Amino acid sequence: MKYLIVANWKCNPVTLKEAESIFQKTEKGIKDVKNVETIICPPFIYLSKIVSEKSGIKIGGQDCYSQEKGAFTGEMSPNMLKEIGCQYVIIGHSERRKYQKETDKMINEKIKAALKAGLRPILCIDNIDQIKKDTDGLSQSDINSLAIAYEPIWAIGTGKACGISEAKEMNLAIKEISGKSASILYGGSVSSQNAQEYIKEAGFNGLLVGGASLKPEEFIEIIKIVDSI
Ligand code: PEP
Repeated sequence: MKYLIVANWKCNPVTLKEAESIFQKTEKGIKDVKNVETIICPPFIYLSKIVSEKSGIKIGGQDCYSQEKGAFTGEMSPNMLKEIGCQYVIIGHSERRKYQKETDKMINEKIKAALKAGLRPILCIDNIDQIKKDTDGLSQSDINSLAIAYEPIWAIGTGKACGISEAKEMNLAIKEISGKSASILYGGSVSSQNAQEYIKEAGFNGLLVGGASLKPEEFIEIIKIVDSI
C-alpha cells in the first residue's frame, strides 16, 4: 500500500495565483514519485481551480458539513466536494474543534456523511477517547476505510514535533482500536528533518503536513524521503 501524505493548507495562501504556483511546483517536483499518494487540501475556494484529473495529486476538502444539501448557509456538503473531484476530506481537525467548537457528535455525523458521499475521511484526533466517540456507530469496514491522523495539539504549528517513541505508542494504540487496516498518519510539525522517523521507526502509514506543505521545496523533499523508504 502507498504511503499517504496529506497537505493541509489551512487558510492559506491569500491569492489564487500563489495557490496555483504552490500546486504546480509541487506537482512538477513529485512527478516521478511512485510509493506515495499525495493529497492536497486547499481552502474550498481554490478547489475547482486546481483540481485536474491528469494530476498525480489528489484533492481533499479541509472540512465538510453533515448534510447533503439544504438551508445551511455557508456550509459545504461532502457531495459537493465529491462532485468537484475531491476524494478525501479532513474531518475533526483540532483547529476546527477549538475555533468552530466542533464536538465529537458533529464530527461523527460528518464522517458518516462523507462516507455516504463516497469520500475517504481523514479523521484528526489527539487522543484515543476521541476516536471512540468520533467513530461511534460505524461498521468495522467503514472504520477500516478511514485515514486517522494522530495530531498532538501541542505539536501543531509549534515546531515541537512529537517524540518518536511516544508517537509509536499512539500509532499502535490507534491500530489496536481501529482494527489494524485503517491508515494511521502522524501530524504535528513534520519537516524533512523528521519525516523519515515517523514512517520508518514509528511505523506510521503516512503524514499530515501543515506549514511545510506551503513551501514546495520542503514539501517535495518530505515526499521524496518517504517515497524512498
Ligand atoms: C496540521 O495542520 O494539521 C499540522 C500538523 O500543521 P503543522 O505541520 O504546521 O504542525
